[in-house]
Amino acid sequence: MNKSIRLRGHHLICPHFFRGEGYDHVFSDNLMEGIRLLEGGAIVEIIEGGDFICGKCPKLENNECHYAEGSERIIRQMDAKAIRLLGVRVGMNVTWEELAAKIPSIFATWYNEECGHCDWIAVCKKHEMFVKFSRG
Ligand code: SF4
Repeated sequence: MNKSIRLRGHHLICPHFFRGEGYDHVFSDNLMEGIRLLEGGAIVEIIEGGDFICGKCPKLENNECHYAEGSERIIRQMDAKAIRLLGVRVGMNVTWEELAAKIPSIFATWYNEECGHCDWIAVCKKHEMFVKFSRG
């Protein structure tokens, strides 16, 4: 049976543009490993709150995001938007391939509404797919 990886809403979109940069090497190595498993066919279980990626994040405390003031609320709003845009639901199981196939059609909305005020945009802009999609 394929391994299952629990991911929250915005992590169904943002890691498609990951190039190895993150908060620290523990976080980045874990994310890299997650992507390797996902690309190898691991099943995504869609959840709310802290997930596989958050599990190694230095900003997670008591299962809440402490990146900056108000982050927990903002991140949950991002999660809800990602889930709505992708047409999935919390509790669903999907493949990374299925999610990747949906990114081109939802990316303009995501980019316009979320990427502009995200601190990671400079990193995502190094990813050729992000550049291609953001040019429309
Ligand atoms: S810029 Fe931020 S919100 Fe946009 S895809 Fe990258 S990490 Fe996600």
